[in-house]
Amino acid sequence: MTRTLFTNIGQLVTNDEQARDPLGLIADAAIVIDNERVTWVGSAAAAEVSGGHDIDHVVDCGGRAVIPGFVDAHSHLVFAGDRATEFEARMSGAPYSAGGIRSTVRATRSASEGQLVDLLEHRAHELLRQGTTTFETKSGYHLDVAGEPLACKIARGVTDEVTFLGAHVIPAEYGGRGHEEARVIGTREDYVDLVCGAMLEASAPHARWIDVFCDEGAFTVAEAQRVLEAGMRAGLVPRLHAAQLAPNSAAIALGVQLGCASIDHCTYLTDDDVTLLASSSTVVTLLPGVEFSTRSPYPDARRLIDAGVTVAISTDCNPGSSYTSSMAFCVSLAVREMGMTTAEALWSATAGGARALLRTDVGRLVVGARADLVELDAPSYVHLAYRPGVPLTRRVWKNGVVVAQTIG
Ligand SMILES: [Zn+2]
Repeated sequence: MTRTLFTNIGQLVTNDEQARDPLGLIADAAIVIDNERVTWVGSAAAAEVSGGHDIDHVVDCGGRAVIPGFVDAHSHLVFAGDRATEFEARMSGAPYSAGGIRSTVRATRSASEGQLVDLLEHRAHELLRQGTTTFETKSGYHLDVAGEPLACKIARGVTDEVTFLGAHVIPAEYGGRGHEEARVIGTREDYVDLVCGAMLEASAPHARWIDVFCDEGAFTVAEAQRVLEAGMRAGLVPRLHAAQLAPNSAAIALGVQLGCASIDHCTYLTDDDVTLLASSSTVVTLLPGVEFSTRSPYPDARRLIDAGVTVAISTDCNPGSSYTSSMAFCVSLAVREMGMTTAEALWSATAGGARALLRTDVGRLVVGARADLVELDAPSYVHLAYRPGVPLTRRVWKNGVVVAQTIG
């Protein structure tokens, strides 16, 4: 047993649901952790008075703020190559479409397993350094029976939250974009059969989640339903990409009806969609890095929150539409561009992400939670949005162990 006391915390964000304010803020706070779990939370003065915690180590936070580690509930980190040229073209006026994924598919298929593991581990460390202690990531850049299970297996090496996304786009050899230059071996129906059959069967043992990109240029609502139901029969839990490029009430209704933990993007929602989502337990995960990187209109988070929808914020880190792994940057965007308060944005990037992954052990710092803490180089969490682009992560603990620090 190793007990550590974190004290002299100027501002502690607990996300304690019992607290009066949504972030469960405690000023001049302390926390005790016992190995990988939080065992005590309160004021620094009370920690001193109660003594008797049998402390092995003391961490002095010097009056700085401490927040729960970020929970990034949506990323695509298993890939090779990048699409900087496509980004540059888009910033010069070219439109975004879902079809650009195929260049990443080419690069990913031609990379070796060792290369993919190295790339993924590098990215996982990049997330940790920025305070993300829990993240979901997906397959979806192989789009074949050998590669998709491999991507899920590799992902499982860096996170428990692995999503099988064989239904990312229709690959060129099944008539998807770029089929003019490919050897076509089947129809899109054949591809959906494969996703629901051999690909799912081989991927499911490595995955927790099933997902579909249900949008213009990707999969139809009927195809999404087939894939999600097949995944659920294989023991996976459903989540969905929908309404990124255009309104899609049928996709939103499908996601709610199947009990998706989260529907992600939701940039275009009708009033009826918002009402339906508010009456459900499905989280809406907003991905403002996408709107930033595709120069598109942002979703209206204010409208969702005011209607009672549970909102998460994630990066969607991927080489095409949002190549940022910074949750702090997404918090800034959410505040500046989507009508959220800084408190709401931080909640959505921590506790909200945990809800989107059906997790109760992360995203908050309460007794029993995982000891995933981020010490900010700032006196208050507000600095996350107030100082956009500034690296404010001073030290990061995951399961009670320091995994990143910017001080000697
Ligand atoms: Zn995505």
